[in-house]
Amino acid sequence: MKASQLPNSARIKLDLMFEGVRYSDALGAASAHAFPNFYPYRFRAGEPNPTGRDKVTIPYLMTLADGTLIRLKGNPDSAWAVQGSESTGYRLESTSGDNLPIAFEPLPQWMKGMTTDGSPMANAGVSLHGDMAVINVAPGCEYFLARQAGGGSMRCTFCAYGAPNERVAHFNQQSGIADVPEATLQRMQETLRAALQETEIRHIYLVGGSMTEPAKEGERFIQIAQAVQQVNQHKVPVSCGSGAIPEEQLRRLHQLGLVDQVCFNLEVWSEDLFSKVCPGKNHFVGYAGWLQALETAVGLWGRGQVYSAMVAGIELEPEYQMSWEAAADLAIRGANDLCARGVLPIYSLYWPTGGRDHPKYFERLRSFFEKLNLEYKSTRDHLDLQISDGFMCHRCAYMQLECDIDRA
Ligand code: SF4
Repeated sequence: MKASQLPNSARIKLDLMFEGVRYSDALGAASAHAFPNFYPYRFRAGEPNPTGRDKVTIPYLMTLADGTLIRLKGNPDSAWAVQGSESTGYRLESTSGDNLPIAFEPLPQWMKGMTTDGSPMANAGVSLHGDMAVINVAPGCEYFLARQAGGGSMRCTFCAYGAPNERVAHFNQQSGIADVPEATLQRMQETLRAALQETEIRHIYLVGGSMTEPAKEGERFIQIAQAVQQVNQHKVPVSCGSGAIPEEQLRRLHQLGLVDQVCFNLEVWSEDLFSKVCPGKNHFVGYAGWLQALETAVGLWGRGQVYSAMVAGIELEPEYQMSWEAAADLAIRGANDLCARGVLPIYSLYWPTGGRDHPKYFERLRSFFEKLNLEYKSTRDHLDLQISDGFMCHRCAYMQLECDIDRA
């Protein structure tokens, strides 16, 4: 595939990932029944504002008629706006004449429910991205507490998680302790059972914050996977989205048949960038160690069942001083190398913290992301590597394009 050959739905999705939507009454009304966005819509001074408030909740995810899933972003300058209503159906209209039927991901009933011990199910560590249930019962990451020589935290530079602290106190996660408390697991199980009954879930993805001792992290994921399978009974494919865990725990996870795929997020290609973007991963596992764990996993689960999420575009942060072309070439080399090892990278669009003032920033980011996705598609085709439908699909990939491109 060459640039400009993005399939239609993938192109529209990419447009919307960058451009977002303007506020409209229909968008505001949809927030009454849609899954709420983590980021509110912020009105700009002078922008027409029928709400009288500075910021309002908007929906989180929408789908095109063919099921393509798109994350919503508010942008007063966007050419796109939502029209219609829940009863007549919503449409996405642009100033250049597009008129597309859309639907919003609904807020599920269970999210308003309580577990039998009186905790909100919304806080039980179960969330949905389209048809994927994400299980996160230990979200605190110990890299936030670990210190680099200069005193800075060892967290990954882009990460919005946080340390095991009061913010996530309802999980009773303890720093340095692998075991997830029984009450936390039971709340998750009860909530996951309700979610599986209400929604057609086609993937279950286990995630969590990292531990500074990878073996302990491995033990934690074995425990979580066991708890999930007690509810799931192997009906829905489960993926382990941990850090790069050691061989002993990997073998056990595999022998017990607890997960169908694994995904250890390298985040960025090249040892140099990895050490800068992911100092904790680099210090406690190391770049070579990370790649080795991915290869060990391929030996166990097989080619095409091992994944690595990448933060696509972080290379364009000003401190790395890369042109978008050089950044794309580097990332494409990484995709080729990982695929040759039987590992499939998954590229999530990075939303920048720096460099936004640069007039061409988003143009460069978009060029980078589009080129990377098109070249990576060629690599997958060339090596006959497919993203497993059990791992993810176009109905859950909200910041990624691979599945949208593959099915076109
Ligand atoms: S290891 Fe994961 S949770 Fe921890 S800082 Fe990095 S991205 Fe965030």
